Amino acid sequence: MRIVLLGAPGSGKGTQAQRLVARYGVPQVSTGDLLRSAVARGTPLGLRAKAAMDSGQLVADEIVLGIIRERLGQADAAAGYVLDGFPRNQAQAQALAAMLQGIGQPLDAVVLFNVDYTEIARRISGRRSCPSCGTIYNVHDAATAGITHCRNCAAAPALTQRPDDNEQTVTRRLAVYEEQTRPLIDYYRQLGLLRTIDAQGAVDEVTARLIAVLPQPAQPAQPARPRGRKAVRRVGGKAAGKAPRKAPRKAVKRRAAVKRKAVRKAVQKVPRKVVRKVVRKAAARKAVRRPAGKSGRRPVRKPAGKTPKTARARRWGR
Ligand code: AMP
Repeated sequence: MRIVLLGAPGSGKGTQAQRLVARYGVPQVSTGDLLRSAVARGTPLGLRAKAAMDSGQLVADEIVLGIIRERLGQADAAAGYVLDGFPRNQAQAQALAAMLQGIGQPLDAVVLFNVDYTEIARRISGRRSCPSCGTIYNVHDAATAGITHCRNCAAAPALTQRPDDNEQTVTRRLAVYEEQTRPLIDYYRQLGLLRTIDAQGAVDEVTARLIAVLPQPAQPAQPARPRGRKAVRRVGGKAAGKAPRKAPRKAVKRRAAVKRKAVRKAVQKVPRKVVRKVVRKAAARKAVRRPAGKSGRRPVRKPAGKTPKTARARRWGR
């Protein structure tokens, strides 16, 4: 699953991205987090990005694209990712499209978070995050009102407020969003990738709306059929389009046994004298029909001294 979360600062993209990570097992790729980490480590790239971030401007495309290329090339992003805060202008969107086209992995969806600006101001002023695990809280939400320490970490570190979450910088960031990021709504709409959700209300409700507009992850493949066997379409538990099955062998054998018993009983009722006569006649007829050695069948070896007559008479219970 490769998706982009699009929306103004404070629209809840980061919080919902964390929910998607837990649900789909793909990483959240937030350019804001990657840049903040570079700034905190004091890398050359972080030092270059810091001034723009502090003033609420966008960091140069060349820096952001370098970070994104490196991050998306990591093993955990092979099965997908949630892009949060990227792309933020037309040049970044086109660079991303070219990058993904090059590896044959297009985006699955772009979700726009709709939130009005009064709500954004409330969310940004109340936003706090854990410096250790990155969980985002809001001191204005009922469930986390007045929260000061992380509930997810055993050491419960004190929550911090982002330096750019102040009134002046927020105003600047919103102006940059309107001017540079909002045009991406039309760009992705024209590509048929855009889905829009109402991102106001309880976090769980927004998560449900978000999941409802996302494409469903592919189902696991059906196990392969053993070779050489045809698939049989079953209707109501029976194989469709097939001739009815033959009666099982056991039933055929049972019917034959019943028939043999009936014949034996019938024969027993006939006087023995008549039986002997019939047997003799039958043996004589057989001898005429099949002279020795001409039957074409393998001769049956009979026990010495037992003529067909006596053998058959024995079988008939004499
Ligand atoms: P965010 O955490 O997404 O609100 O980003 C914080 C700051 O990082 C932004 O105000 C920008 O200065 C910078 N930033 C984050 N993502 C980008 C991006 N895709 N392009 C340029 N600057 C970015």
